Amino acid sequence: MNVHFSSHFSPDLLELYALGMISVQGCSDVEEHLLICPQCRTQLEAADTYISVVRSAYVLISSRSNGFPRTRPMLVAESL
Ligand SMILES: [Zn+2]
Repeated sequence: MNVHFSSHFSPDLLELYALGMISVQGCSDVEEHLLICPQCRTQLEAADTYISVVRSAYVLISSRSNGFPRTRPMLVAESL
């Protein structure tokens, strides 16, 4: 797999990388490319942001489905 110097990774692949869902070999290919490619680093940052937003939404949703009535989760978060 020597294409990573001439072509960028897809946003989907960078998202999988951010989630730690690609193989060790795939990881080192991505890391090598990220060292030389600011464009893919920006994509990875976007993927990281997206994942953290999805994770916090998931936490909110799962805390609601525990039967604990949290009608104002933002206010709870602000008071911490
Ligand atoms: Zn790139």
